[in-house]
Amino acid sequence: MSTPIETIRSYGGLYTAESEIHSPATIDEVIALFHMARQAGRRVAFRGRGYSFDTQGLDSGTLISLDRFNKISVDVSARQVTVGAGATWGDILAAAEPHGLVPPVMVSTSHASAGGTLSACCISRFSPTAGKEGKWISRFTIITPDGIVRQCSRTEHADLFYAAIGGFGYFGAVVEITYELLYVGTPARIKTYVTLRPDTSELHTILLQAYDKSDNDTPKPPKEGFNSQPTNVLKPPLGGLGVSAAEPSPMRTVYSAFAIKGDKVRTMYCHTEYCTDAKLVPMMPHQPQLNARLVTEFMVQWFPRLGQAFWNYAYDHYIPGNDTYIDSVHGYTFFMDGNVRAKRLGRKIGMKFRAIQQTFVIPLSKELFDEFLAACLQGMKDAHTPPAMIDTLCLHADEGFLLSSTNGMSGYTLSIAFESLNDDKIVRITKCMKDLTRRCLEMGGRIHLTKNVLADPDDVRAMYADALVPFFTVKKKYDPDGLIGSAFIERLFVR
Ligand SMILES: Cc1cc2nc3c(=O)[nH]c(=O)nc-3n(C[C@H](O)[C@H](O)[C@H](O)COP(=O)(O)OP(=O)(O)OC[C@H]3O[C@@H](n4cnc5c(N)ncnc54)[C@H](O)[C@@H]3O)c2cc1C
Repeated sequence: MSTPIETIRSYGGLYTAESEIHSPATIDEVIALFHMARQAGRRVAFRGRGYSFDTQGLDSGTLISLDRFNKISVDVSARQVTVGAGATWGDILAAAEPHGLVPPVMVSTSHASAGGTLSACCISRFSPTAGKEGKWISRFTIITPDGIVRQCSRTEHADLFYAAIGGFGYFGAVVEITYELLYVGTPARIKTYVTLRPDTSELHTILLQAYDKSDNDTPKPPKEGFNSQPTNVLKPPLGGLGVSAAEPSPMRTVYSAFAIKGDKVRTMYCHTEYCTDAKLVPMMPHQPQLNARLVTEFMVQWFPRLGQAFWNYAYDHYIPGNDTYIDSVHGYTFFMDGNVRAKRLGRKIGMKFRAIQQTFVIPLSKELFDEFLAACLQGMKDAHTPPAMIDTLCLHADEGFLLSSTNGMSGYTLSIAFESLNDDKIVRITKCMKDLTRRCLEMGGRIHLTKNVLADPDDVRAMYADALVPFFTVKKKYDPDGLIGSAFIERLFVR
């Protein structure tokens, strides 16, 4: 086992840590590392592929990377895939797709690992119908600090199951995960048609279309507190998703991006579903491999206002309403790989390429969302920091993953991305995001912990107050002497 000290960096480039990184290849090696760290009085933390925006994957102690746990095995008849925690989403999709199967929730970069996204309980543009990633996890294997290898599911070590999914690696090393897959047929494609509206007046009606249809259930009003009854969306199967379904599932979704022009907020709705059309009619943003995409990403770095200019151009010219695009599942899903390519290249040639992405979840109320959107736009205007991208979708309350932003609460996400940041802008955006987090708290919303969390920790603690007691109870049970640390969890939740 090698033990180099490395300077590691968050994806957004705002944070670094000096860590002793180990890459064990077997369960015994992970247990040996736990033992060594305990003997040396050090703590350990885990890392997937390092694509977190904030400090989620950074820690200055002994950092255990699970990247060598990368086996993937598809069980076609059970419609499940079992993966090593270090397997990347690009590789998981590549293994499942030839069978007409796809993971219902995949993040927008192919480079993130399953262990990393399990630990953040990630979302995708299909989340209005498919929910969050945790919904599709049927079981996982975790090595807890006592060196015991435990299988966790909704029925076995359920406390650990609900804490570790979205628990940012605070409970042990996840080494293997089994996901349910959705049968979409072959060739698997994603069809999108775009509709345009000159303002946000129809936002709620349109976004709720996907949300309503997902479970033939009308959206429920936001619930107070946590641990409410789960809201079913696309129901995960017992013993394999859709095992009995002979027909491919289209799995529909709707989300919206904004094109901001002066005081006008114009909305672009993407209505999307799986299909098996052979012919590709790709949309430009869904071709991350194109050099044109690389040039666009670089241009946005040099001229930040181009971010919104791009969306306005798309609104005015590039995407005529009602045209239908057909993308490969890889291109559609991993559209942010263009941004990853640009950042990698930029950093190689010495450019800083710093970025911030923060996502808020506002309880499912038109009035609250409109009020929050107005506050965001005003806040960014006052801070002179136009966003590169701002988008929204609807999420159902989930089944109770403790630190999930939708634990017991349905809501609208509002994601804001900033690129091309200098120190001065970072200060202004940080203040703006902190103020908006406070506003979000006052509205009964939560900050989504997966991306940046530029917020007063007291506000974040208040948002997750009901979940913290069970979360730290599970921590105490499985890690009583605190072998596992997390700079991120401790910054936000430990006084
Ligand atoms: C370009 C880009 C696009 C993105 N798109 C989306 C998106 O569409 N939706 C979304 O929700 N998020 C998205 N994200 C966020 C990203 O998916 C998460 O940050 C994810 O956690 C990164 O996975 P990773 O493998 O890089 O994990 P890391 O960043 O290395 O680690 C993340 C967390 O997981 C823990 N961890 C990792 N592996 C293990 C393990 N095996 N056992 C225990 N703990 C572990 C770490 O301790 C850490 O807390 C995106 C990020 C980027 C950079």
